[in-house]
Amino acid sequence: MLANKTALVTGSTSGIGLGIAKALAQQGAHLVLNGFGDAQAACAEVAAVAAPGARVSYQGADMSQPQQIEAMLRAAAAEFGRIDVLVNNAGIQHVAPIEDFAPERWDAVLAINLSSAFHTTRLALPAMKAANWGRIINVASVHGLVASAYKAAYVASKHALVGLTKVVALETATTGVTCNAICPGWVLTPLVQKQVDERAAALGLSNAEATKHLLCEKEPSLQFTTPEELGALAVFFCSAAAANVRGAAWNMDGGWAAQ
Ligand code: NAD
Repeated sequence: MLANKTALVTGSTSGIGLGIAKALAQQGAHLVLNGFGDAQAACAEVAAVAAPGARVSYQGADMSQPQQIEAMLRAAAAEFGRIDVLVNNAGIQHVAPIEDFAPERWDAVLAINLSSAFHTTRLALPAMKAANWGRIINVASVHGLVASAYKAAYVASKHALVGLTKVVALETATTGVTCNAICPGWVLTPLVQKQVDERAAALGLSNAEATKHLLCEKEPSLQFTTPEELGALAVFFCSAAAANVRGAAWNMDGGWAAQ
């Protein structure tokens, strides 16, 4: 379905980004990976499932740095011609009451979770519009729809990312470019394992108990969403059937936001 198309997935050396990258490569897309994890391992994992002919590349841009983002987009365009599928996925979390929230953590969360998507979008959109085809998929969160205490920067960044998604969807509404957001509930990735570890330490629980505690609190299905499920949703957004899905904030959250 995506043969001869190129996808850039930010923050794709682990977790959700890696899952989405694998799903897009299975559909034949060339992949540009990015992130601070083990790049070689991530490239090998994506290449192992990629459809014949799909190539895998890596760019190590720090998504908090606009100049590095610009250099990454230039390098990707030089290697593959243009980005057809842009997945804004890189993200970080910081948990603290607002009066103790370190201002530099606020700045970092906003830069990586939100501003990076502004920069990649403004840079990738002209070529998508010229080709009259493109897919922009913003990995927001159920925290783009509802809040939780102690996550001021994360919740603010994800609500804003949903807002940015809607603006881009409106500005591209008469073109072959679509922009949508995915809003996962809990997904067991390094980002969430850190929160399980913090909960286990704070409450004196085992890993299994802390995991159950985390799920019971917010996620009615009591099950993690998986990177594979999110990858399949991203593939749907890239399909012809989704050509008129525009500006959606699509939760895959085990019922979290329905409460
Ligand atoms: P993860 O920690 O496994 O992956 C985050 C990725 O972003 C990694 O590749 C990391 O190296 C990269 N990254 C972090 N800072 C970066 C920077 N400055 N520049 C470039 N890359 C950077 O976490 P994940 O859970 O897979 O998170 C991916 C996205 O999904 C995030 O935007 C997160 O907010 C969102 N999300 C996660 C969950 C969850 O439960 N795990 C739920 C909803 C939304």
